[in-house]
Amino acid sequence: MGDLSIKILGSGREIGRAGIVVRSNKGEILLDYGASIEPESPLFPLHYPPKRLSCIILSHAHLDHSGAIPLMYTSRALPIYLTDLTLEIADLLIRDFLKISGYYIPYEIMELITMRKCARIMDYGIDFYIDCFKAKLLNAGHIPGSAMVLLSYENMHILYTSDFNMVETCLLDPADVGSINFDELDAIILECTYAEYSHPPRENVEREFIEQIIEVLDNDGIVLIPAFAVGRAQEIACVLYKYSIKYPIYIDGMARKIIYLLTKYNKYSKCNFGEMLRNENIKIVDGWKTRRRALKEPSVIITPAGMLKGGAVHFYAKKIIGDRKNAIFLVSYQGAMTPGRDLLTKGKLTLENSIFDVNARVYWFDFSSHCGRKELLQFLKLVNPDTKLILVHVDSAVGSKFKKEISRNLGLNVSFPKNGDVIKIK
Ligand SMILES: [Zn+2]
Ligand SMILES: [Zn+2]
Repeated sequence: MGDLSIKILGSGREIGRAGIVVRSNKGEILLDYGASIEPESPLFPLHYPPKRLSCIILSHAHLDHSGAIPLMYTSRALPIYLTDLTLEIADLLIRDFLKISGYYIPYEIMELITMRKCARIMDYGIDFYIDCFKAKLLNAGHIPGSAMVLLSYENMHILYTSDFNMVETCLLDPADVGSINFDELDAIILECTYAEYSHPPRENVEREFIEQIIEVLDNDGIVLIPAFAVGRAQEIACVLYKYSIKYPIYIDGMARKIIYLLTKYNKYSKCNFGEMLRNENIKIVDGWKTRRRALKEPSVIITPAGMLKGGAVHFYAKKIIGDRKNAIFLVSYQGAMTPGRDLLTKGKLTLENSIFDVNARVYWFDFSSHCGRKELLQFLKLVNPDTKLILVHVDSAVGSKFKKEISRNLGLNVSFPKNGDVIKIK
């Protein structure tokens, strides 16, 4: 029987900069290698020599999972396994990351190009082989193209959930938990961002959101929806489309590019974006003329950035925020020290060092793309008590409490490692 261990390079007792190595005596696999971009200069996971690795597997395109991967391509070509859509979105996000963060990032576009050349595209549910490992991607229900990773080595099995969502949304099917054989798992690396917080039922959130939107529009107002460019912006478009909102819906910023990608990679979404784009109410913003037109009529405007940190949302927000007929509806998590968090908690909007009076109504709607506490507990009911459960991607205080709770109440074998820790599986 061979040795199997897991080393945590990032996302140990923190949210962000994921990086996990699965090590055997015959090969090593890196699962994700991301960057934390809050609040200022980026943070990367612990260094790991690329020459020790057999390959990388990327679960999804978010920068906290993909943003450090090009660092692995400064000296060698290493295969990277991922879905085709994850490759396209990661490429877009990393290019953007390079552009906005400039000299803070210790790699360049060349490394990203090498990474692209090394891509091995994989579909969900198909076994693939890397040295002595067998691997499989399963739909994670988190963003389009996202995957959980199943790894087998000899007769040992590990599941890395990465960011996952067991709730069905307008955009995505829930995580494919049904395809996991829990009894054979020796270890589960579990994302538990929301271990302490249950999201309200999705149908209620959607209904309330639509009611509020119609009220604003019927009173000649404009609804501005700052949304993450990947996943959330498209989900909001799907919700509005599903409820047949009879007003123009403008989509701006990088959210547009992702919608175009989804028309091509349509198997990753429940919504038919090709059909949606042919609807006369859906307007893709193609320049300043359309941007100004959006502000001249009752409309919904969906645009990044989700926390109002930058992008086209600044232009719209400044124009609409002073009028009580209008509204800003936040639909994403609002990080500390972001204009979005300030708007919610202090009722003021600070953009580019100017403070704007807020008369528009401001609400936050919980459209999360992660499992909440309720779903995590549902997931844990499926876990065999002999399986080693490794908690990651969660704040230190929340994770410590959750670890105690589930080891005591559910009798599970839980560890909550910090970055640098090694956990022996067998
Ligand atoms: Zn994510
Ligand atoms: Zn994440």
